[in-house]
Amino acid sequence: MTQFNLPTMFPIHSRHVAVIGAGAAGLVAARELRREGHKVVVLEKNDQIGGTWIYTDRVESDPLGLDPRRPVIHSSIYGSLRTNLPREVMGFKDYPFVSRNDGSGDPRRFPGHTEVLKYLKEFAREFGIEEMVRFETEVVNVGLMDNNKWKVRSKKINNKDSFDEIYDAVVACNGHYSQPRIAEIPGIDSWPGKQIHSHNYRTPEHFRDQVIVLIGSSASAVDICRDIAGVAREVHVASRSVADGTYEKQPIYDNMWLHSMEIALKDGTVVFRNGNMVLADVILHCTGYKYHFPFLDTNGYVTVDDNRVGPLYKHVFPPGLAPWLSFVGLPWKVIPFPMCELQSKWIAGALSGRILLPSQEEMMEDTKSFYSTLEASGIPKRYTHNLSDYQFDYDNWLAGQCGCEGVEEWRILMYLAASSSRRTRPETYRDEWEDDHLILQAQEDFNKYPP
Ligand code: FAD
Repeated sequence: MTQFNLPTMFPIHSRHVAVIGAGAAGLVAARELRREGHKVVVLEKNDQIGGTWIYTDRVESDPLGLDPRRPVIHSSIYGSLRTNLPREVMGFKDYPFVSRNDGSGDPRRFPGHTEVLKYLKEFAREFGIEEMVRFETEVVNVGLMDNNKWKVRSKKINNKDSFDEIYDAVVACNGHYSQPRIAEIPGIDSWPGKQIHSHNYRTPEHFRDQVIVLIGSSASAVDICRDIAGVAREVHVASRSVADGTYEKQPIYDNMWLHSMEIALKDGTVVFRNGNMVLADVILHCTGYKYHFPFLDTNGYVTVDDNRVGPLYKHVFPPGLAPWLSFVGLPWKVIPFPMCELQSKWIAGALSGRILLPSQEEMMEDTKSFYSTLEASGIPKRYTHNLSDYQFDYDNWLAGQCGCEGVEEWRILMYLAASSSRRTRPETYRDEWEDDHLILQAQEDFNKYPP
């Protein structure tokens, strides 16, 4: 196990911290909090670490995920999933996601989901994280007490009895790819076909010989439409990211077409904005997810409004509750693992008193001004946590707060190269690339962290 020395020049306060979730975010949060000297308990409802990377062929009883009482399956991973980022880019900064070359794993540069789970398990083993995790323990309520501590109520899976504990701080790492968001289509309630959200998509077999309308343009949509085209009669992709009126047969496939959104329903048929109509068997919603914190009770201080979790200073701290409540991993269109690593370092340092946060008023002012800028630019609330264009500025800002190195130049260039290839060559970008020189730079960097 790797050992670390704590800095000695600061008066470090050790806090009792609950981390909710043992996915990538919770694991790195636990590591950073303990490195800083905090006493950490990770509460995880599953029986193993890995969060969304734990593939299961089980799906939910409600294929759209609308019924709030349904038993929730956490993971949204499908069978054929390979990462959409090269492994060099994807890994934590100080624990590179390299192929071990021992014949035990998936050595591909864009590996399958099993390899990511294996990596997270190795990460947990390397840093002794499992010993902090209480498995099969679901957090059902987190509430602020009069003395400004948190009461965390949890229960063992398959057991009704709950159990209360008091913590100084809570770090929410519960993930945000489990609660489906559905496209609103007038008249959908009486549409006779089948509907499913990609959260409940695993393999293409169920779609054999059927006509599918797939809504969405995210990385999952791009993968799943291709997965399905191999067996379906026709696949019609309706996307918001293409020009109005688009109607294009997709290269390589003789049964897949791209249409612009919106769609409408008429007499059982799906009508596209470009005027085409199809008699579809299935509408498959690849339309993303909602932030969801069913356990969190902050007396209305933190809310989810049109998918904005707020108010949050820099997507992490609610100003009035900082640093005692924090969120890791909320931003999207980012490289998640290294971003979570930096957010976690910031939280750990703020809790110990080593890193000073601005005053509550200053954090609130900054947050309000951020929201005003979004509004002035016509960006809807639901894009609040979409960092895309400025993710590296954000990461470097976090690194500056923590006094550590920012994002490596090779990582930025490699991310940009992969994103561009994914857009232009969705079939081949995972197996053909032109950035070998960046791989060499990454490997040189990784030598700092021997396996
Ligand atoms: P999760 O992995 O979802 O972990 C959250 C954990 O919290 C889970 O273990 C869950 O059981 C637990 N939990 C939730 N609620 C409770 C509760 N009440 N009590 C106790 N425990 C609870 N990222 C990449 O970097 N590269 C990719 O190629 C990539 N592909 C993706 C493909 C898909 C289809 C999806 C859905 C995501 C993909 N991602 C990818 C993003 C991925 O989500 C992140 O990489 C990362 O795994 C998120 O980690 P997390 O810890 O925030 O959330």
